Amino acid sequence: MCPSPPPKKYAIIIGAGPAGLTAAYELLTRSDIIPIIIERDSQVGGISKTVNYRGNRIDIGGHRFFSKSAQIVTWWEKFFPVQGQVASSPDNPLNSPFNCTGGPDPEIQDRVFLVRKRISRIYFLKQFFAYPLRPTFELFHSLGWGRTLRILRDYLTSRANPITPVLSLEDFFINRFGKHLYQTFFKEYTEKLWGVPCNQIKPEWGAQRIKGLSLRKVFLHSLRRQTDDALQAKTETSLIERFHYPKFGPGQLWEAVAEEILKLGGTIHLNHSISKIQIESNNVTHVAALDKQGNQLDFPEPDHVITSMPLKDLFHCAIGNIPDEVRNSATSLEYRDFLTVGLLCQTNDMQIKNPLERVDPPDNWLYIQEPNVKMGRVQIFNNWSPFMVADPTKLWLGLEYFATEGDSLWSLSDEELIKLGTKEIEDIGVVNRLQIEDATVIRQTKAYPSYAGGYENIEMIRAFLNSISNIYPVGRNGAHRYNNQDHSMLSSMAAVDSILNPSIPKSNIWRVNAEQEYHEMTRAAIQSNEDN
Ligand SMILES: Cc1cc2nc3c(=O)[nH]c(=O)nc-3n(C[C@H](O)[C@H](O)[C@H](O)COP(=O)(O)OP(=O)(O)OC[C@H]3O[C@@H](n4cnc5c(N)ncnc54)[C@H](O)[C@@H]3O)c2cc1C
Repeated sequence: MCPSPPPKKYAIIIGAGPAGLTAAYELLTRSDIIPIIIERDSQVGGISKTVNYRGNRIDIGGHRFFSKSAQIVTWWEKFFPVQGQVASSPDNPLNSPFNCTGGPDPEIQDRVFLVRKRISRIYFLKQFFAYPLRPTFELFHSLGWGRTLRILRDYLTSRANPITPVLSLEDFFINRFGKHLYQTFFKEYTEKLWGVPCNQIKPEWGAQRIKGLSLRKVFLHSLRRQTDDALQAKTETSLIERFHYPKFGPGQLWEAVAEEILKLGGTIHLNHSISKIQIESNNVTHVAALDKQGNQLDFPEPDHVITSMPLKDLFHCAIGNIPDEVRNSATSLEYRDFLTVGLLCQTNDMQIKNPLERVDPPDNWLYIQEPNVKMGRVQIFNNWSPFMVADPTKLWLGLEYFATEGDSLWSLSDEELIKLGTKEIEDIGVVNRLQIEDATVIRQTKAYPSYAGGYENIEMIRAFLNSISNIYPVGRNGAHRYNNQDHSMLSSMAAVDSILNPSIPKSNIWRVNAEQEYHEMTRAAIQSNEDN
């Protein structure tokens, strides 16, 4: 009698966003551990999915593909090569010197990264200002010379006499930019985003979000020539000027990754929400998930659990010996939620001359700093990719609102939100209501992990999770960090590194996006720098 083969090891992966899909792909290509993905949504991609509304595609928040990590850029390009020239006509607007020589023709091939120029402006004082801000004559002229002098005076004052200690995001901004520039260009938008005054937000948000950005760097950057690939290691995150973008939005890439995972032997259970995570003796011993009809899937004795679900929800599902202070802190973590009002608009000859060219306005997105407008940003999806729009002679807009589940904005019905969006987009003069021919609303919960609420005890939550031997929190909400796709992926790669080589501490996951040059450190250096 032949001995039966040993049962294969398996990992439960919670969430089919960038973090979960990366973890599954890495396990399949680097080990014989079988990944089983549990995803609550009916499609993959998480916040980075593409929503298809009657053939018009919505990207929630607008996802640029760029990274300081060569490993991530190579990983993406394994799935989607960077576009080459369009053969049908040499003066096609999709042709540019930044395309990849010999890369696929995006008119012919679907699985391709377009090369896009970033254009975004700030709408304020009923005018548009280029963003990132450039210290040009036009900027000072539009601001008015009185305001410009106040900006300079305040900037020099805060350089000479910075606020110490820095207790709030407001202090952080004032030290970086001076009080007047902060009030002109950052205050309103940031307060719309977080729903609280900047003087009540912790300074870590600024450190995380705009890291090394300063007026000096903005000035130097405006003098430098643009770089041409998605690997922009020396450029601050907020300044990236060119980026790669899947032809049909970010979710197209993640759908291709999911397809590959299935081919390689992984499993994806869509429409299933995690309902139970049993913890015993510092180990996850059982995971359960429910579908919408209440049918339960059980996963006993998983070898590993890689989780990208929000930490708050994880602790709501976790059963076992969890200290009260850890559970209470985790379940009081806070988030900001996100509404997109999609508006399909007829255009006039001025707005679209050639459907493959940028439409008017030429921006990928606009920041709305104006205080009497609730809208935070406007995406112009045509300018991300002309292929996002079913009929490219139409203008396809995403009006973005920041809200908190249950607040007055979130509680508006879809019809009321569309009415609000219609009024506000007309007020700022992008389109008039007669042009709008179709509309939809997309609601994204927990779009932004907040550094308020239970966050003050995040180290305690992390220490508890580090003590559970087979659980790996990864990604954006999984780690409760303001992570982009690349950071979310790097945290999953760090989790898989640690699973496959137990001498690599799993606490490395928390270091991703905490140190700017994380990816440039060798693994050996990371280990020798590790505290425990
Ligand atoms: C407005 C905005 C703009 C952004 N712009 C960019 C950008 O330009 N470039 C960039 O790289 N990144 C950008 N990001 C960040 C990017 O969206 C995230 O980094 C990325 O999606 C995080 O991946 P993730 O897998 O960690 O989490 P998610 O994308 O949140 O995926 C988590 C998945 O887990 C599932 N899930 C949650 N709870 C459960 C449960 N109980 N059971 C089962 N499944 C569950 C969710 O349905 C989801 O599919 C942006 C984000 C926002 C909000």
